[in-house]
Amino acid sequence: MLVTFAVTVAPLPSDKPPPFSPIPPPKHIVPVPRDPAPKGLPARPDPTRPGAPGTVCRDPRLIGQAVPDIVEVDRLACGIDDPVKIGWIGSIELAPPIVTGCMTARRVADWLTGVAEPAAERALGARITGMRVMGSYACRRRNNGATSRRSEHGRGRAVDIGGFTLSTGQVVSVKRDWGKDKPGAFLREIWRKACGPFATVLGPDADPYHHDHFHLDTSPRGGAPYCR
Ligand SMILES: [Zn+2]
Repeated sequence: MLVTFAVTVAPLPSDKPPPFSPIPPPKHIVPVPRDPAPKGLPARPDPTRPGAPGTVCRDPRLIGQAVPDIVEVDRLACGIDDPVKIGWIGSIELAPPIVTGCMTARRVADWLTGVAEPAAERALGARITGMRVMGSYACRRRNNGATSRRSEHGRGRAVDIGGFTLSTGQVVSVKRDWGKDKPGAFLREIWRKACGPFATVLGPDADPYHHDHFHLDTSPRGGAPYCR
């Protein structure tokens, strides 16, 4: 994993980074002696230093960088004000990084640290070290349809999640493990508890389009959350 980073991450001009390139681990990473990263995994960042270089949205859990405003002048009115690209949430690496607004990034962090991490420890006896991201900002219509309404992905308010990597090396996949035994129970719990914090929560039970990922968004439409 480290080798991949070293090969693929080139120094970027600071004013205009490409939106979806990997973010290297922040410089303020320090080894955690009592709980070192397993061999082959990226070192854990230090999430306890508020304001340390590399944190964004004034949230010490969110490690990444601000990116220029995304303005797309088209029929869909896509775009994000003050977008951020987040490569790590606490000690969890997002692969690839997500591009969202701050509010959505914070909501994902709340869910990861407050729901998913304790659920993984309880159900699977492991820490979450990585989250597999299948989508974040994208100017497109819902379910990639031709005439459907603009997706919340087009406003930087949605994240698609395909699975998690655990400290044991185990990978929990929405596509493979939904409905199956312990990993399935873990996935169902975190899917259920995303409902409310997120306005829309979709998973494999929703429709064939979501057979391999969770869609979580912070749509501002109001009313009851829509969770399937
Ligand atoms: Zn989605």
